[in-house]
Amino acid sequence: MSHDHPLDHDHNRNHAQGGHSELSAVELRVRALESVLSAKGYVDAVALDLLIDTYQTKIGPRNGARVIARAWVDSRYRERLRRDATAAIAELGYGGRQGEHMIAVENTPQQHNLVVCTLCSCYPWPVLGLPPVWYKSAPYRSRVVREPRAVLAEFGVQLPAATAIRVWDSTAEVRYLVIPMRPGGTDTLDESELAALVTRDSMIGTALCHT
Ligand code: FE
Repeated sequence: MSHDHPLDHDHNRNHAQGGHSELSAVELRVRALESVLSAKGYVDAVALDLLIDTYQTKIGPRNGARVIARAWVDSRYRERLRRDATAAIAELGYGGRQGEHMIAVENTPQQHNLVVCTLCSCYPWPVLGLPPVWYKSAPYRSRVVREPRAVLAEFGVQLPAATAIRVWDSTAEVRYLVIPMRPGGTDTLDESELAALVTRDSMIGTALCHT
């Protein structure tokens, strides 16, 4: 399977990166680069912050949360989402780079879904924004396949033994969105109130939704 990404093509370096100290070194280099570029007048720090904030909080996981809330209140939408996620997500106006071929996987009492990119950091940008640091880390990428239940426990998620865990490996072609289970006691909530319950991690599968 091809695994080249326009913006994330340096797989060897990603693989070489280990724990948080290495990532901090990368962050330091980014900060140093930003300082130099700002000092020379090539980039505007305020504009950069705005751009990052846009991906983290606006384009970011709030889009996915709206998709999930719609699926929770509208069973026909949920069916469309399960059948053709790319099209169903586009109905709400989201799409584009790193989200051209989406697959939605629905959590049930029988099966919990967990998303990873074992090779690097493939991630559905249009619905989740920028991937969190841990998603790109080597320990998550390798351990989630071998011992998903232990990894989930470290995220504070304890599933019943009877619930199977299925791990989905993202690629440059296919990106996954987890449809978390709707929490109980939410019958009176409207769609936007429900969307507020949907976290980024719940759509990766490393968290459950709670009221
Ligand atoms: Fe990847």
